[in-house]
Amino acid sequence: MKISKKLSGTFVLHSSLGRTMMIFMLLLLTAVLVVSAWTLDRSWSRKLQDTESSAVNLSVSQARQAEDTFLQTEITLRAIQREIPAGGPTHADKAALNAALAEMKSGLPQLNGLFVYDALGNWIATAAAQTSTGMNNADREYFTYHRNNRHGGIHIGQVIRSRLTGELVIPVSIRLNDAGNGFVGVALATVRIESFKRFYSYFELGEGDLLALLLDDGTALYVRPFPDTFINQSLSASPLFTTQLVRADRGKGTWNSALDNKVRIFGYARSGQYPLIVAAGFDKSALWSRWLHDSMPDLVLNGTLLLIIVLIGTLVLRQVRTNVENQVELTTLRDELTTINQSLQALALLDGLTGLANRRQFDLFLGQSLKRSALNGKGVGLIMMDIDFFKLYNDTYGHVAGDNCLRRVGEALKNLPLRQTDLIARYGGEEFAIVLPDTSPDATLHIAQSAVDAVREAAIPHESTTLEAGVVTLSAGCIVLVGSDDGQDAQRIKEGADHALYQAKHDGRNRALISEASE
Ligand code: GH3
Ligand code: MG
Ligand code: MG
Repeated sequence: MKISKKLSGTFVLHSSLGRTMMIFMLLLLTAVLVVSAWTLDRSWSRKLQDTESSAVNLSVSQARQAEDTFLQTEITLRAIQREIPAGGPTHADKAALNAALAEMKSGLPQLNGLFVYDALGNWIATAAAQTSTGMNNADREYFTYHRNNRHGGIHIGQVIRSRLTGELVIPVSIRLNDAGNGFVGVALATVRIESFKRFYSYFELGEGDLLALLLDDGTALYVRPFPDTFINQSLSASPLFTTQLVRADRGKGTWNSALDNKVRIFGYARSGQYPLIVAAGFDKSALWSRWLHDSMPDLVLNGTLLLIIVLIGTLVLRQVRTNVENQVELTTLRDELTTINQSLQALALLDGLTGLANRRQFDLFLGQSLKRSALNGKGVGLIMMDIDFFKLYNDTYGHVAGDNCLRRVGEALKNLPLRQTDLIARYGGEEFAIVLPDTSPDATLHIAQSAVDAVREAAIPHESTTLEAGVVTLSAGCIVLVGSDDGQDAQRIKEGADHALYQAKHDGRNRALISEASE
């Protein structure tokens, strides 16, 4: 038998196995998701940390490199200071100074030029081959700076374009004093931006990664990879100057670059010796893309794992559903079989026409009663009844009416005042029987007589009976025996009852007789 209605998913979930499996799968799925997310998050955090460290290291090392460059320049400028006569540089010293400057510059490829100006800004000497006659640099910022500031340190200015070579240079200058510390001129070294460009290009940096050399007022001296147009731009509004450098001279952080608004992971360091700052910034979105690319195997692996779990989960739940369906099907089948079995059992023991016990049940019951009787010594009463002239009834009214008559006789017998322990059966044809365990001959005869009376009083018309009553009657013969358990009890008691019945028929029917053999 097939249960046609398929069980729904929710039904499966209501089964304890289905629920357990679902919870298990969900937990497994959540665990894998959490572990994957946690691992990836940790990997990204580590990447960020590593990048921050790299940025700091790079900025610190580049600050040191810049310091070295400017220290060499300072040493050169101080050497020039010593070459200047006490009263200040004049055109008379030009040849000697030119030679000295050329000598000094020759060992320093990062320098574009070395210059000496007098107190009026007149170009007195240069390391370059060109003559310096007639040029005046009194308008340059460094010149006015030194004229107005007495301190003896070097001054690093904003990037300018060399009037001599047209090259972009950082002017590094020092004030020249006479014996009384009066201003007598300026010694200038111009450091090539190109040298920083070349140096910074040695680093393997991404397209969006930035390396910047800045003055501490925020002026960009050089920012890799930005074009020269960004040189001298002020970055003082950048978080580097507004918040970071205010707190510490070196550090790290993530912010939007003031130059192109790109989010970068920065490391920065301020030079201890010079008013210089170096910042290294790594493009965060490029970093993310790289990380994503590197993490792809992990992501694919985790995704596959999740997919496998979902697939296994689906298969398991489907299996659970099949099992639950089978179980329900089996249970239904079992219930139906039980019902059928019960009906079959009942059918096997009942007479179909009258609903009374059938011959089979009668035999079983009589056997059991006799067995018990053999044990307890109490009598078993048996009444055998046979409808009188039933052949005539059939002949007169037909078999269908005959069957109906049998049913009515059965009903009349059912109404007899019997105990729960007694049994009425249709013995066969138009014969009935009553088994009365644990009973006396008087009581048995009384019941037998009651049966005869009850059927007659049912007043089923029987016009062809030879009896006066003109209704259906029956004759009954009964006996009471105590079982002996010798295997002959059933036969003995039936023959006894039959004999009494035969006698009742013989004596005129419509009556009950008890066998003399009754105990
Ligand atoms: P007596 O008084 O001697 O018992 O006469 P009788 O006609 O009843 O006896 P007999 O044994 O000759 O006839 C019994 C009849 O009962 C024969 C048969 O046609 C009828 N009979 C037996 N079983 C059934 C049944 O199930 N239905 C019907 N309608 N008739 C049955
Ligand atoms: Mg008969
Ligand atoms: Mg008969």
